[in-house]
Amino acid sequence: MILRNPVSKMMFLFSLLLALMPLLLNAQSYLWPTNASRHLSSSFCEYRPGHYHSAIDIKTWNKEGYPIYAVEDGRVVRLRVSPFGYGKVLYVRLRDGRTAVYAHLQRFNKKLEQSVRRLQLKKKRYTVQWYPKNWPVKKGEILGYTGQTGIGVPHLHFEIRDAQEHPLQPLAFYPDYEDAVAPTLQSLLVIPLNDAASVNQSRLPQAFGLKKIKTGVYVLNDTIRAQGIIGLAVRGYDRSNGVTNKLAFYRSALFADDTLLFSMRYDTLDFALTNQVDVDVYYPRRRTTGQRFNKLFIDDFNALPFYRESPADGRLQIADRPLDFRVEVSDYRGNTSIIRGTIAPEERAGRPALTLLDLSDHAAYIQLRLPKDVKEMRFFTQNDSGLWRPVKYFDLLGRSSEQSGENMLVKLKLNSSSDYLLRLDIENAQNESMYALLSNNRKPPISLDFDYTEHYLIARLKPFFSNENQPVHISCGAIDTLLTPLARNGSAELALGMRWFAGDSLRLRIANDGYDYFDTTLTFFRFEPGKKMHKRLSSYVRMETAPKTLLDTVIVYWREEPLPDTTEAPLFSPPFRIDFAGPVFNKSARLFVAYDTLTVPARRVGLYVVNKKGKLSPAGGRADTINSVIEAGIRSPGVYVVAADTVAPLLELLYPRDGEHLKRLSAIKFKALDELSGINSDADLHIRIDDHFVIPEWDPETDTVTGRPYWQLEPGMHRLRVWVDDAAGNRSQKQIRFFIKN
Ligand SMILES: [Zn+2]
Repeated sequence: MILRNPVSKMMFLFSLLLALMPLLLNAQSYLWPTNASRHLSSSFCEYRPGHYHSAIDIKTWNKEGYPIYAVEDGRVVRLRVSPFGYGKVLYVRLRDGRTAVYAHLQRFNKKLEQSVRRLQLKKKRYTVQWYPKNWPVKKGEILGYTGQTGIGVPHLHFEIRDAQEHPLQPLAFYPDYEDAVAPTLQSLLVIPLNDAASVNQSRLPQAFGLKKIKTGVYVLNDTIRAQGIIGLAVRGYDRSNGVTNKLAFYRSALFADDTLLFSMRYDTLDFALTNQVDVDVYYPRRRTTGQRFNKLFIDDFNALPFYRESPADGRLQIADRPLDFRVEVSDYRGNTSIIRGTIAPEERAGRPALTLLDLSDHAAYIQLRLPKDVKEMRFFTQNDSGLWRPVKYFDLLGRSSEQSGENMLVKLKLNSSSDYLLRLDIENAQNESMYALLSNNRKPPISLDFDYTEHYLIARLKPFFSNENQPVHISCGAIDTLLTPLARNGSAELALGMRWFAGDSLRLRIANDGYDYFDTTLTFFRFEPGKKMHKRLSSYVRMETAPKTLLDTVIVYWREEPLPDTTEAPLFSPPFRIDFAGPVFNKSARLFVAYDTLTVPARRVGLYVVNKKGKLSPAGGRADTINSVIEAGIRSPGVYVVAADTVAPLLELLYPRDGEHLKRLSAIKFKALDELSGINSDADLHIRIDDHFVIPEWDPETDTVTGRPYWQLEPGMHRLRVWVDDAAGNRSQKQIRFFIKN
């Protein structure tokens, strides 16, 4: 970084000192929370669907039962047992006011475990929560043992929260944590941030591969050419000493011409904002390909707490001169990888073009404008057969050179008099194709498809027949205008920004070269933050947002989908898709779906998501039988349908068997699962021995339930009864007898 004057140099040193302060203050350091390992399997603020990871996960080598320790003097303030999420979790308020959280435990220590068991029997529930009043602990005391309760494989999830319950970067308290491995970077995404910007002759984000030239230094495989306001995003991961787990990085920064424009650090998290994790990544890419690129720019609505030291928002304006940039990505120990690159301004002039001048007797006269780097050119024609046939003979009649390229006049010998399409392939860095129509009384076979980003819609015409990059005539409601498409490789992109989406539909008429290519009406729905909005998406679907539902304006697309052929569940609405490209749902929108006449009880009916394989999973929702609608909350794009679950859960008793004679019974085991609506909670699982309650310890990941009778069973016959209800109210039950031997 080049600093222009001594004052800013001092400021720089001062802010560096400030940046190191938290580290110095925390140097008191806590005890490491377990003896299982000093390796991480997940890092702080790693991406999880719908939230950030608020802890570090410590590796327990796929085993359970390692002791966990009080990291500092304090008191146990909270314990919770649940089949979901954190499983068995323990909270210790430390002497300094912070809280240490240990999750997914196999069990608590003996005294705590006994108290929890008493509470479970009293409440007749596996799920319980307890706030001990006076339970002091000493640094180093064993509080419990690592396990895999709740979600995930065996590991210790360890959080440090401040007095306001904000999770902190746990590594800040362990200055002796060792890691010497710099982050691995995979690719860089260059994103046009409005409908006037472009990257490598496209309105869509372009991913660039990276080449590692030495440890920690990457360069780009290709040149970036851009115009207008763009943003960058980086994809990669971190690794640490001795293990292969992929972790999130801790810090990222963007410099342009050696000036810091963006910086981000995962030091602290706010649970109230953790649901905005998709604002941090480039959402349209995550949604379509699953790839996560971390943004190196800050959207206007982004309120996440990671950018306090960022001097600007990271957006880049590319005008008329090249821009050198540097991306820095670091882990918590400061191991850094960088990407160096240049963004050159995109030249609009000198694009290749093909114009038909005249047609006569199996010959076509063509005017060409080509870039200078053309190595080879080949012509093809097509007739009604639909096959491209190479043109064998052509004459170069004229040639002139100018700075941006070459002009040529070419005479072609056509293959037949029925040829009506002409294609030129040029071989150069871009390997482009161009098209022309030979016959004016044929309508060109053009396809139109759509793609969209957070900020604009792309209409793509393919192939694109144009003499030059001529403006395309486009009508939208009362507005009639000309829009210049970005043409490349025979296709053209028209970008329609938010201003086109004022209403809820758009009539799109596209005309060029004397043809009316398309006349189509796009239906969409514009929802805005800050007010209550209610829109009818179709005759049977309505959507409602509250003032705080959205972070920013979003365009919602709706369309009906074909019936899935893989489900046997009765369906009570057509399947429909709700789609949007912005990561802007802060809360769920309310969806109201009118259902057809029911042939099953209303409580069996709910809203379901149809996945790509046609399988249904519950999306919640309750039937309002007075109005015949399902009301449900949705935050994610997807295909939805109203369906009924009329099938009782699967219930399989594994131990003991009916009529079995046992020496003693330490645990009952059964399998319980439900394909459609699912099992809501352990309150829907029941175990009784001789009508006495037994705690159902449920592991939804393996669909198993374990019950341990807390009393000694007398010799003789006993009756075991288990039953389970699914979320739609279907019940399965089993009743057996077993014998305890004398
Ligand atoms: Zn975790």
